Amino acid sequence: MQSNIWNFVASSIRPVVAKRCQTGLLYSVQHRQYSSTQEADLVVIGSGPGGYVASIKAAQLGLKTVCIEKNDTLGGTCLNVGCIPSKALLNNSHYYHMAHSGDLANRGVLVDNVRIDLEKLMATKSGAVKSLTGGIAQLFKKNKVTHIQGHGKITGVNQVTATKSDGSTEVVNTKNIMIATGSEVTPFPGIEIDEDTIVSSTGALSLKKIPKRMVVIGAGVIGLELGSVWGRLGAEVTAVEFLSSIGGVGIDGEVSKTFQKVLTKQGMKFKLGTKVTGAKKSGDVIKVAVADVLNPDKTEELECDVLLVCVGRRPYTENLGLEEMGIERDQRGRIPVNSHFQTVIPNIHAIGDCIHGPMLAHKAEDEGVVCVEGILGGAVHIDYNCVPSVIYTHPEVGWVGRTEEDLKCEGVEYKVGKFPFMANSRAKTNNETDGFVKVLSDKGTDRILGTHIIGPSAGELINEAVLAQEYGASAEDVARVCHAHPTCAEALREANLAAYCGKPINF
Ligand SMILES: Cc1cc2nc3c(=O)[nH]c(=O)nc-3n(C[C@H](O)[C@H](O)[C@H](O)COP(=O)(O)OP(=O)(O)OC[C@H]3O[C@@H](n4cnc5c(N)ncnc54)[C@H](O)[C@@H]3O)c2cc1C
Repeated sequence: MQSNIWNFVASSIRPVVAKRCQTGLLYSVQHRQYSSTQEADLVVIGSGPGGYVASIKAAQLGLKTVCIEKNDTLGGTCLNVGCIPSKALLNNSHYYHMAHSGDLANRGVLVDNVRIDLEKLMATKSGAVKSLTGGIAQLFKKNKVTHIQGHGKITGVNQVTATKSDGSTEVVNTKNIMIATGSEVTPFPGIEIDEDTIVSSTGALSLKKIPKRMVVIGAGVIGLELGSVWGRLGAEVTAVEFLSSIGGVGIDGEVSKTFQKVLTKQGMKFKLGTKVTGAKKSGDVIKVAVADVLNPDKTEELECDVLLVCVGRRPYTENLGLEEMGIERDQRGRIPVNSHFQTVIPNIHAIGDCIHGPMLAHKAEDEGVVCVEGILGGAVHIDYNCVPSVIYTHPEVGWVGRTEEDLKCEGVEYKVGKFPFMANSRAKTNNETDGFVKVLSDKGTDRILGTHIIGPSAGELINEAVLAQEYGASAEDVARVCHAHPTCAEALREANLAAYCGKPINF
């Protein structure tokens, strides 16, 4: 039904665009001296996880595919300044922390004179980025995806023009267009990012020295991950958060509280229910003014040498030709699409961070794949309730589905099955006992409604929960599946057992 409405809207808009195209108003492309033209079935604008995966899938399914990327390297935010570099720093700063904090010594591994070589740490991160972005270039070649380096602009219903760094243009006439232009850092009003001492997540991935004091605005996923990195390397980190809990949108309240306790134990400080009202540089020091959200007269000034602004991301659709095509954005700057990822112009699709939904790499990838399949007449469906979230701190946090707060709000009767890692043999053996698995299942049917994990390898364990939920499993289903011993995954099984019959074995 929704699709029909969209098709109707699209068909009523299309002639207008086409007419304007005939007049040359929209369609006219200034063919410079160095312009060239090619034909395609699909042009993908942007090579982030949404765009590059969609391009490969489309080529594999036989579409002549062109992917236009404005950056020098492929992979978008995720590979260049997002998931990959942050995880490289999280992983290696954890090793340092284990050695430096005495954790290794407690395990009988004695290391002396532990120091950090920041340059090497950064070089390792850059190496990971280089090898993975280069890997996409190889995959493009292997799958015969044509890569054009340049800024892509939609210059007609069936045309995208890429402007390259040398000023030359390449026009691609195409049956379909997919916008996968992603997102950018949301600025904080009144605070100017210099990516040196007042940084966004991008600058925080490449600091030249370890700050003594760091203030992070925003205790969401990215703020906590990057705050953890610099905290482990020696910075005194204070996270200022407007909300009264940490971990961002969608985290279960009980998990969030435990998470805060664990990070506090690790040395991170929190100022919750607190808003930043301004920041100014005074020599080498940055003074950050904060106020209590409920009592704005209660103010304070925090000092730091690096201020990390992490208040979220917003869709990036600059100079894409949307206005000219009559494609409007919603109040949050996102491109509205129907269930087939079609904009108001049916052959122009949009996926990933620039549309609605969680800004996650795997969400963008899945949308890219099903969108391509839809273009070819296949079924298009994503259950957003089965898109997992992970925070890659130590311990990790992972969840999928409904939280207890959601279920209460929706009036759903549910059961809770919990199992602490303290009682899991592998976690105990590895001395990684912080956290628990919590399974929420329907009281009447036992169907799993949500799984929330804080603990070792939560980011890996959550995938089993996603699989179970995607297939509509009951807690009993998972509890009856044989799990290898000793593994942390047994804690997931036990939590399902607790949800299904009220009694885990080992706790
Ligand atoms: C620090 C950080 C850590 C993160 N960690 C995780 C994580 O662990 N897991 C996770 O799932 N997500 C993570 N994310 C979010 C994740 O990076 C994004 O959700 C994901 O990259 C979105 O993919 P996308 O393909 O929609 O867009 P993007 O990755 O943003 O890619 C869009 C691409 O389009 C290009 N582009 C834009 N406009 C044009 C144009 N007109 N012409 C040509 N090219 C254009 C851009 O240059 C860019 O390369 C993280 C983000 C950050 C910032």
